[in-house]
Amino acid sequence: MQKCFNNLKVEEYKKETIIQREREDSIDIRCTEFPDFSEEFHQIVKAGWLEKTPPKGGKIYQRRWVQLDSEYIRYFQSVKEVYSKRMVSLGSVDKVVSVGDLRFELHNQSRTFLFRAESTQERNDWVCCLEKILSDRKNSLEPRNLFFKNGSVNSIFEGYLEMLSPRNKVYTLISRDKLFLFRSHEEYFQGVGITDIDMRMASVRDGENKRSFTLTTPYRTFSFVVNSESEKVKWCELLNECVSRSLSCDGVCESIWRVPANRFCADCNSSMPEWASINLCVLLCEKCAGVHRSLGQNVSKVRSLKLDERVWTDDLIRVFLLLGNGKANQFWGANIPPSESLCVNANSEQRLQHITAKYKDGKYRKYHILFGQQEALNKALCSAVQFADLLETLSLLNCGADINCHTGIPQFPSPLSLAKHSGQTVQAELLMQNLNSETFTPVVKDVSIRSHSGNLFKTASSARPITDHKSKADFSQRWCCLGDGMFSYFKNEQSHNKCGGMKISEIICFSVNSPGKHGYEHTFELFSEEGRVYLFGTDDGSIAKNWIRAIAMAVLPPALFDVCGNCDRLGRLRCTEGSNGIGWFCLSGFKLQVLLKDNVQTIDLRKLLTLTLCDSSGSMVLVWRGGPLHLLADRRPHFVGWQTYIQQKSGAGDQPLSQQQLSDLGVPVTIDRCLDYVTCYGLLSSGIYRKSGINSHVTKLQERFQSDARSVTWCESEYSVDDVANTLKRFLREVKDGVFNGQENNNSWLRAAGLEDRSEKIHRYQILLSNLPDVNRETLRVLIHHLVCVQHLSEENQMTLRNLGIVFGPTLFQTDGTDATASQVVEELIQNYCSIFNVSESDLQRQLNMTSDVLNKHKSQKSLSRTPSSTICAVYLEKKEEGAAVLVQVPADMTVFKLVSVVLEQKGIQKANEEFWSCYEILEKEDMERTLHYQERVLPLYFSLSCHCHLLIKRNHYILGIMRYLENKVNLCKDGPLRVCELKSESSRNFHLRHCELSGKTFRLYKELQGSQCEREYPAKELKIYHGCRSKLHPPTPWGLMLIHDKQQWYLCCENEDELTEWTATFYSIQV
Ligand SMILES: [Zn+2]
Repeated sequence: MQKCFNNLKVEEYKKETIIQREREDSIDIRCTEFPDFSEEFHQIVKAGWLEKTPPKGGKIYQRRWVQLDSEYIRYFQSVKEVYSKRMVSLGSVDKVVSVGDLRFELHNQSRTFLFRAESTQERNDWVCCLEKILSDRKNSLEPRNLFFKNGSVNSIFEGYLEMLSPRNKVYTLISRDKLFLFRSHEEYFQGVGITDIDMRMASVRDGENKRSFTLTTPYRTFSFVVNSESEKVKWCELLNECVSRSLSCDGVCESIWRVPANRFCADCNSSMPEWASINLCVLLCEKCAGVHRSLGQNVSKVRSLKLDERVWTDDLIRVFLLLGNGKANQFWGANIPPSESLCVNANSEQRLQHITAKYKDGKYRKYHILFGQQEALNKALCSAVQFADLLETLSLLNCGADINCHTGIPQFPSPLSLAKHSGQTVQAELLMQNLNSETFTPVVKDVSIRSHSGNLFKTASSARPITDHKSKADFSQRWCCLGDGMFSYFKNEQSHNKCGGMKISEIICFSVNSPGKHGYEHTFELFSEEGRVYLFGTDDGSIAKNWIRAIAMAVLPPALFDVCGNCDRLGRLRCTEGSNGIGWFCLSGFKLQVLLKDNVQTIDLRKLLTLTLCDSSGSMVLVWRGGPLHLLADRRPHFVGWQTYIQQKSGAGDQPLSQQQLSDLGVPVTIDRCLDYVTCYGLLSSGIYRKSGINSHVTKLQERFQSDARSVTWCESEYSVDDVANTLKRFLREVKDGVFNGQENNNSWLRAAGLEDRSEKIHRYQILLSNLPDVNRETLRVLIHHLVCVQHLSEENQMTLRNLGIVFGPTLFQTDGTDATASQVVEELIQNYCSIFNVSESDLQRQLNMTSDVLNKHKSQKSLSRTPSSTICAVYLEKKEEGAAVLVQVPADMTVFKLVSVVLEQKGIQKANEEFWSCYEILEKEDMERTLHYQERVLPLYFSLSCHCHLLIKRNHYILGIMRYLENKVNLCKDGPLRVCELKSESSRNFHLRHCELSGKTFRLYKELQGSQCEREYPAKELKIYHGCRSKLHPPTPWGLMLIHDKQQWYLCCENEDELTEWTATFYSIQV
């Protein structure tokens, strides 16, 4: 049952338009497209981010965008999603209650939903809104408790449908103008749904086979399969009725006027406009329509909503619903001065003047950022038409993009054919209305390949990873076949005797080599379950591409089909979090798509919080903001490749900015950490960035950042602000290609500085900025923002605009400083920060005031630093009780000491004199505990806990005894007899008296009590020490210690408590 709909996964398409920013990972139901409008159709009462309890067993809260209207509470993966992950009918909700500090629960008859707000105020707001709606509902006469008896939905048809990719049954219900999806029939009765689809935006089409069909909306495509052809016909018929009912039951006018902005003339604002310009996408009153007509068909194509019925196809109506006057005027009328705006009573001359200026002369339009760059405009158009943003297309078309430009794709040469191919029928409609003559290109259907065959070249299989170069002579030609669950190869096409092959289910990994690695240009490797590697190759790129796609489709579970064809490596790995211990992985570039249980998640490897390779076992732990991921070591050859790839793609210090380890904001970690430090401690420091630090410190710090930036923390405070400031400068000066991305771009920026006209220059900077890769642009933004802060405090730190220019010009442009233009550019970027980076002056001013306030009061500067990567961890206080966990936001660099003080503070506990609190790792099953070192970092530790472990904070009674013992000690060593039991197997549980010794840095175990023969020797630092003793072992005394080294476990029993204290004290002090 867990295999449910919320795991529907659609690939996140990256928009190619350069102003579009890259988004975070994609998870679950999400649209391929993001709408600009969202609230036009729902009356949203409240919306905001909340954290929701994770599905069964998870520790980490999930951040969700939650929306409340009078009927439903829904939550979404992000603000931009159209389709919720869950919707709960408020008719089924019995009550809402506040629980714990920031949380509240929603109870319905079948289950409880727990949410957590960011503040008490916010939580109370939610509870208040919900209570208001619930009581309003109670007071109305409508029956409660059933999803569909609340008056909002009438079921017209319902039943199970099978959803494709991944295959999941969904209970589906057609209502008047919406389609509702549920995980099951049962949940439908419980009032808990997945999402609803507004059918006004949808179209229904035949699928790839006789029993399948698709429902396409501008945001994503849903594919369904049913049991029989007749059933399909029935569904399609009813869905089509639903579409037309939703669109046209009111007539064209009513339909279009449902969007509020469409109820007024786009030009003169008179109400209920019954005319439209179908290419300019605006609704017009009769008078304005007359003026439009006089401009000619080539400027404005005027049609009546009432008279020209046949023009109004469903798609054209959708254009006006999605775009309409509201959006279209954001473009056409962005800059209308009040003195030139048109009023309802305007005379015909005023109308003609205004409308001509507005549409024909383009006087008020908002010029596209690419205006004037023909090639970039065309490229942007080709990209835009594949997605839902109609305003972008309208803007491009009217700012010079060529509607007939060549897309560069032979099958879909024009933007129109590309839009159709991408399923963007509304985009296609918009293009069509703006096109005079259009040559139709048949849309080639993308045939999904289940079977495939052809000649490839193959080397002999190997039991080891193939690291050496294979020349063409090492390969021999084979006829290869994929089908019927097998991958087989034959001597030639005619041969019936198989040379070899494997079941597809036995392929555990498939890896595409970079071109030219071997004698054949394109090669890929298959790894079998048995641990053998098969290398295949061809010189023909398109043959290789088809094979890669076919094999990927055959090997991968359907949930990952979307990534087929463009990934470098895929396969399954043993991993703790996966279902039955198996997870599926696809790596393309920096992106690792992961299918665990039934969730597809995308991890940007550059943004990992930590990456740990356990040397001894070979396993890997990846910690990202979604939690930890443990890949278990595997001795078969495919695993080494995964290790290498993941490590390579997780960012490296000697690469350009975009290939460095990145922060959550997408800025190199090195820059992020240095800026944080200087912001916290250096803004008031005189001559910051100008004074040099201690060279050896800077070099050391630089090396640490270069080898693993993520691991650098500041807790030791061994560096001065000048050391850190200079490390930052050195990084910027030396990083490959620099911030401006290469010499050629450096020159463009420097040339722009020479422009005479100020606004032209700013505009040029904006264009250059938008052309930078995401990481470079973001880096430049945070850097300049930082310099604006530094300059703002120049009375204190003496770093005036000019000084900053002198320092950062040569640094950012990586020049020797002889050319003053570099400094000029930096000065101008700082000076014009708001207009170039599109930041509002008032926002900036607020931030700057806050900065000065905080600094002036010499308060903790914590609030200034951007939130570092962190995770919410659950710890217990004094005793573990269900539901009593304390949730703490744990940043990557939080120490155990800090954790203890945060928890005590959160719980309002004052430390008494001579009282010590520590954090313990508790092994529940063994009834043992380990005191954690106060300097240890919490996050890696937390993620390495196994499932029967937890963190507990409590008073430490031993510590006084330990301190007293250590006070008078000069020479730290201890030896003496202990009762020892080595836990080899369940059977060996005998304790023997042996001589033990702890001296220097070593712990020694002797064979006997008197013997001089040392049996075991361990570095004390590598031992983990637990207090307690398993009662199962029948320990001879209650004062036990357990030592763990790798897989070996030793139990030691002392004679009395003092002895236990002494041994513990000695261990601790040696381990520090
Ligand atoms: Zn008008």
